Amino acid sequence: MRKQLIAGNWKMNGSLAANQALLSAVAAGASGASCQVAVCVPAPYLAQVQGLLAGTPIALGAQDVSQHEAGAFTGEVSSGMLREFGVRYCLVGHSERRQYHGETDALVAAKAQRALAAGITPVVCVGETLAEREAGRTEEVVKRQLAAVIHANGHCISEIVVAYEPVWAIGTGKTASPEQAQQVHAVLRSQLHAATTHSDRVLILYGGSMNAANAAQLLSQPDIDGGLVGGASLKAPDFLSIVAAAR
Ligand code: PEP
Repeated sequence: MRKQLIAGNWKMNGSLAANQALLSAVAAGASGASCQVAVCVPAPYLAQVQGLLAGTPIALGAQDVSQHEAGAFTGEVSSGMLREFGVRYCLVGHSERRQYHGETDALVAAKAQRALAAGITPVVCVGETLAEREAGRTEEVVKRQLAAVIHANGHCISEIVVAYEPVWAIGTGKTASPEQAQQVHAVLRSQLHAATTHSDRVLILYGGSMNAANAAQLLSQPDIDGGLVGGASLKAPDFLSIVAAAR
């Protein structure tokens, strides 16, 4: 059985003092966790958080990576730089990057490729907007987003993590029902199955207002292999309740 992964996405939140307080509580509470745990932190805090996580089972994650290897790309962070700080996971194609930074499917696929080449697991985020869901286009949208990454990454595709994050559920307090989420996860699973003989090892996380109250039901669905958690990852008790609900 796939060991579930609960990954926190801190987004653009934190401070040196707040990170230390949050992670000392999370590390203490997650020490006996049966699932995998990670935190995806803002780039300036990678060094600090790498130090804070040393000796804990919690993995370090980043929130974005450049598609370029190095060079004149002001403001960008390369996969090699992330690697130097012990980064194990990197979000790519988060809806906030697709929406506010115009990231296309092709760019997200190139970022995933760059992460994989550096030995970093890309957490490929896919998800439909409310208008797309209401127009009955959910399946078409998530399949198109994942297809770009499959196409660019060939046989390495079994090394990625996928996060299904309906855009209408991110940061809104609205959650997909376990049935709605499972339905999309099953679609993604079969798309992966058609692309690789190792699809069973690919984790598909759910993200979108996952919290202490709804985590257990979502995480009990057969194709939900964990959670990508935004707001609730900033409060140690809430994040730890989600970790405790995972297996
Ligand atoms: C996210 O940022 O990936 C996310 C799922 O946020 P939230 O849990 O706050 O909806």
